[in-house]
Amino acid sequence: MFRIFNKIRKTGRLTEPLAPRDQQVARLGVACQKEIARKFSGSLAIRMVDAGSCNGCELEMHAVNNSFYDIERFGIHFVASPRHADLLLVTGPVSRHMQAALLRTYAATPAPKLVVGMGDCAADGGEFGVSYASCGALENVIPVDAVIPGCPPTPLQLLQGLLDLLQKR
Ligand code: SF4
Repeated sequence: MFRIFNKIRKTGRLTEPLAPRDQQVARLGVACQKEIARKFSGSLAIRMVDAGSCNGCELEMHAVNNSFYDIERFGIHFVASPRHADLLLVTGPVSRHMQAALLRTYAATPAPKLVVGMGDCAADGGEFGVSYASCGALENVIPVDAVIPGCPPTPLQLLQGLLDLLQKR
């Protein structure tokens, strides 16, 4: 017991200090927040749809909700139902298995709805293209308002893509 306490005392603290918050995240987030305040009464609800992704895009999407990026503080929320959503954020090429589900999700989202494709797969089918198993690009299945390229797009690219779309509307 004393041996362990002694070791703790001698070793000291090994964790690194937290990096200062990324200024670019704050800048993009605040710019998004202003647009959301004007056009969506302060709250933008996003329904995420995985239409056939490898899950790389989802990992980045999860990251924007972690305690570092924390995009909820800018009024951007992920919701569980398309019926509560202002925007569909779709990843992956659209697999044939997900085509019907995506069309039904799109139909269930109230107008005026925004659709954003996240990642190169959503942009043009990526590595998978069009085949017996894949419809390819998102726009081959539903109308698309914006595409955020990258494989996968980083949280910063995601925020920048959302900001570009919001500023255009
Ligand atoms: S764009 Fe890249 S990370 Fe995203 S689903 Fe396609 S292969 Fe995966």
